[in-house]
Parts: sequence; structure tokens; C-alpha cells
Amino acid sequence: MEWATDLEMYREALRAERIGVARWDLKLDRVFGDSTMMVLYPDHLTNGAYSEFLLRRPDLHPNDVKFFEALVRFVQAPHHEYAGKSHEIVVDFRLADAGNREQWFHAHYTIHFEKEQPRSAVLLLRSTDSEHRQAETLRQKAERDALTGLYNKGHARELIDEALAVPGTTKALLVLDMDGFKKVNDNLGHLFGDAVISDMALSLAEVFSSEGDIIGRVGGDEFVVLLRDIGSRDAVVASCEKLRDMLRRSFEYGKNQTLNVSGSVGIALSPEFGDSFEALFSCADKALYEAKRSGRDTQVFYTDELREGEKKNAGENEIVEGRQALLDHPVEFIFRMLYETRNQRITVQTLLSLFAKYFMVQRVVIYQSQGENPGCWFEWCADGTIPTAEAHEGAVGEFLNRTYRKEIYGRFLEFSDTSKVNGPMGTLMPERNIFALLYVNVMDGEKRIGCVGFEDCRGTRIWTKREHEILRTFADILGTFLMDQMRYKMVRRGYRRLQGLLDAVAGRFWVVDTTDGHIAYMNRATRTMLADSGNDETKNCYKVRTDTNRPCVRCEYADLHADCPGALPLRQEAERRGLAPIPIRWNEGLDGRLYLIDA
Ligand code: GH3
Ligand code: MG
Repeated sequence: MEWATDLEMYREALRAERIGVARWDLKLDRVFGDSTMMVLYPDHLTNGAYSEFLLRRPDLHPNDVKFFEALVRFVQAPHHEYAGKSHEIVVDFRLADAGNREQWFHAHYTIHFEKEQPRSAVLLLRSTDSEHRQAETLRQKAERDALTGLYNKGHARELIDEALAVPGTTKALLVLDMDGFKKVNDNLGHLFGDAVISDMALSLAEVFSSEGDIIGRVGGDEFVVLLRDIGSRDAVVASCEKLRDMLRRSFEYGKNQTLNVSGSVGIALSPEFGDSFEALFSCADKALYEAKRSGRDTQVFYTDELREGEKKNAGENEIVEGRQALLDHPVEFIFRMLYETRNQRITVQTLLSLFAKYFMVQRVVIYQSQGENPGCWFEWCADGTIPTAEAHEGAVGEFLNRTYRKEIYGRFLEFSDTSKVNGPMGTLMPERNIFALLYVNVMDGEKRIGCVGFEDCRGTRIWTKREHEILRTFADILGTFLMDQMRYKMVRRGYRRLQGLLDAVAGRFWVVDTTDGHIAYMNRATRTMLADSGNDETKNCYKVRTDTNRPCVRCEYADLHADCPGALPLRQEAERRGLAPIPIRWNEGLDGRLYLIDA
């Protein structure tokens, strides 16, 4: 077929593209449509004043009214800058169709001027609804997880980062993971597994439905939720418990076989533990790990203690490397570790593992004979060594307490070869893989409160002098600080409170260990004063003065009268105030002096 004219060709092209054309006579304010316009978009035409029609369309989306107001304003005023030219205005807008569904359109107005006066406009109009829907589908695909319809990890991360940047509320990031999900896949099939994941997503949406909560699927059976304003921790706990009730399910399969699933949650609060997805996710994930570790079907908040635990674990190699320090100054080393830590339980565990590694024993155990729970209180087992409770149900503990009744400080119970022990224990211990042991009493003053010791589970051995010494030192410190659980808790609480209190007071407070002259403790005011006076913030005057880790042979600082540059500011202050040190006793070999200066 031949085209009769260019005009016919253009008409054909516009019809094929479903583009309606209309001319708007601005003098008359009337609009005239072409055939496509009349057939496809008759609702966009009017017999009355066109500008009136544009401004008063009842089917126009309220948010789009402003575009047409601007257009009408533009064509009703002269524009010198366009004199003798044309100007284009483009509008994307929405109309409600008969079923009240949104329909997208694209209008292109080319405005012609006579001198500076707009005279006419050509409108090209096109429905863009299917393009918008396609774009929306693509966006959904990019942002949503296909199985659950929740945000995928990438988009959840973006939204959560945006939400975290808004200050003023306490927010919480929750990481949730199903317990025992693999078994669902393995025994009931992947499709059933998918259904369980979808169900978990629905439960999440139901529990965390308040506006602004962001829910995403990280992958597999793991989800994240951001709560923008938690209200209180109790409210978060209540939501988690509600969710866990919904997730706790049993499925039957095979012949009367059942498998159970539940949910675990790790929670990190913002701003306390960070204000980025990255930082909070890492904390919440560690809390989730803790929830799994402690038996699953629970929620755990990320805390300073978990952070401290990470640090201690991370620092364990360093500690092992520093074992020379342990051997050179065991009292100082162990005391410092216990005294300076914020979590004594973790430190005790670290110390036990350190001893075990250094002395190559497979178990280090602390038994207590007093308090609420006599028996094994703390233990460290090498990989592949089963814990005491499983190995012999506490039989060794009872044996030690029986044999050890004598309340004598520093009394060791030592076997190089447990098969030589008289009575049934001589058979039981080797049978349960305890071939050699070395224990020492832990005393609270005159009273025996338990014992601590090493067990060799691989073979017989002769215990060395060094092993005796270290064990006794450790027992001393345990006796002072830690033994009874209740007391331990009180000490820990008391210690924290005391430290907080001492740091808060304006007065200066420090303790000198008279055995080697190092400053065992300084409160913040003292540390600040030392730092302000140009000294490093350090606990050891000898470090400041000689830049070594060795205490002075005779510490001048301890008696406050000799000239010690490292401690000069403190000494001068104490002298000026005629300060008398208060002698304090921590333990054998740890005599100290306490200095207090009122603010
Ligand atoms: P835990 O309590 O330690 O979380 O154990 P678990 O059995 O729940 O194991 P885990 O969370 O490590 O396993 C998640 C499994 O989810 C591993 C993977 O095979 C499976 N998985 C990952 N994506 C999908 C999915 O889209 N559909 C299904 N059905 N399974 C998935
Ligand atoms: Mg899981």
C-alpha cells in the first residue's frame, strides 16, 4: 500500500501508538480532538471551556491537580522569553476509571506564541498505565522477596538505614530465625518448607503490624524487623513472646514421627548499640546466636556483657601469648584480669581455658562445698572431653569434698596416677578418663568453701611446682572474689555500683599495691588528673617513668615521700593535703594502701 500523503502516514503512526492529538485554541479556550482522540480518549475532551474543564475534573487524582493549575496559569499570561517561539509542558497524571481504579496518562502540550501571547497548544495524549504497572512490577521484584512478599535483604537494609537516621526514639533491630527448620525440608520436602517460611512471614506481619515497622527476609528461615519506637523493652519482649507462641508448631510425618519447630530472636537496641543496619545487624545476630546457644525458642537482647564476651574471646590468643606475664607475676596477672573485667564470669572461664592450655590439662574444675549449690560450679573442658556432670555425675566432687574436709589453707590433693587411689574411686576415675588430678582448697578466711583443680584425661603425670603455685594463687583469688554464687553476684553488682560511684564522684581515689608499688585502681577523676598533667593514663607509675613493664625494685611512690616523677602530681596533692593512706588487705601478697582526696 502507498501512503497518499505525509499527513496520512503520521495519522497512521499516531493511531498505531494510540496517541490522541488535540488542538487547544487559547483565544476561544476550546479544544478539538483528532479521530484517535475521539475514539480512545473522549473523556479528555469537552465542548465547554477547556481550562475550566482541566481545573475541575472530578476524576483527577488530588495530588495531580497542581500540574494543571500551573499549566492554566502559564497559558493565561504573556511570556516575553518565548515571544514568537513555542514551549513544551509535560504532565504525567492519574484519573480514576469507572471502577475507581487509578489509570496513568501522559500529556504533552506544545504551546505556540504570537509575540509574547500564548495562542494555541497542541496536545499529544497517551495512556501509560501498562508501562506504570510494568515498572511497578519490576520495582516490586527488585525490592521484594518472591516467596513471602516481604522486603528482601537489600531493600530492607536501605529502609532500615533511613529509619535509623531519624533521631529521637529508641529503636530495635530484631533478627529472627526458625529453630529446627532444616528437618522440615529434609522430612516433609522443600515445598512444605516454603509454606512454613511463608507462614512465618504472615506471623511476623501480624505481630509487627504497627505503622513504620520494617519487615524483611534475609534469606532461608531468617528475617529482620526494625521497630521505629519500641516504647519499652517489655513491649518488645511481649511481641517476641507472642510471635514465638505462633511459631511453636509440631508436624507429623512418617510413622508417628513428629518434628518441632520454634523461633529464636536476637535484639539490638539503637542508638545504644549503633545507628546503622550493618552495626545493629551484627549485634542482633550475635544475640540470636546466644538465643540459639541457650536452648532456642527465646529472645535475647544484645548487651555489654555479650560484647565483653566477644572481646574476651577475641583477646584470648593475646592472653595465651601473654602467658609469660602469668608466670612472672601470677598474682598481679590474675588479680588484674578479675579486677579490671566487667564480666567476671567470662573472665573466670577465660582464665580456666588459659590454665588448661598452658598446663595441657583437659579439664579445669571449680567445686564449691558451701552455698546454695554445692558441687561443680565452673569448669572448662578441652574439645572432646565430656563435662563433669556427664562423665561421673559429680562423684569426683563428692570424693574431693569428703577427702578434703580438713580446712587448711593451701592444702593440695594430688594424684599422679588415679588408679593408685584406695577404694572405689581408684577404679572409677581411670574408667571415666581421669588419670591424674591436682586440686587445692579454696578458703574464705578460715573456712573451706571449695576447691579448684586440674584433671588430666589423657594419661598419668607428675604435677610440677609451677602448677602447684599457680593453682594456689588462683584459689586465693577465687576465695576472695568469686566462690559462692550468691556472693559472686553481690560482688559483681557491688563492684559495678562501686566503680560507677567512684567514677562519678569528683574526689580522687586510688589504691597502691605495696608489694610492687603499682597503682591497682584509680577512679576517673584521678585518671583525668594524671592525663591532664601530661602523664599517660596508666595504672603504673613505673610505666610512665621508665617505660617498662617492670615494677621498681623498691617503689618510692608507695611511701609518698620519695621523688617519683610518674606519680608526682598525685604525690604532691596528697602531701599538700596531709593525706594519710588507709591500709587495705585484699589477699595474701596483695597489701595495699587506699588514698582518698575529697573534691
Ligand atoms: P537452627 O535452629 O540452628 O536455625 O537450625 P535450622 O534447622 O533452622 O537450620 P538453619 O536455620 O541453619 O537452616 C536454614 C535452612 O533453610 C537451610 C536451607 O537449606 C533452607 N532454605 C534456605 N532457603 C530456603 C527456601 O527458600 N525454601 C526452603 N524450603 N528452604 C530454604
Ligand atoms: Mg534456622
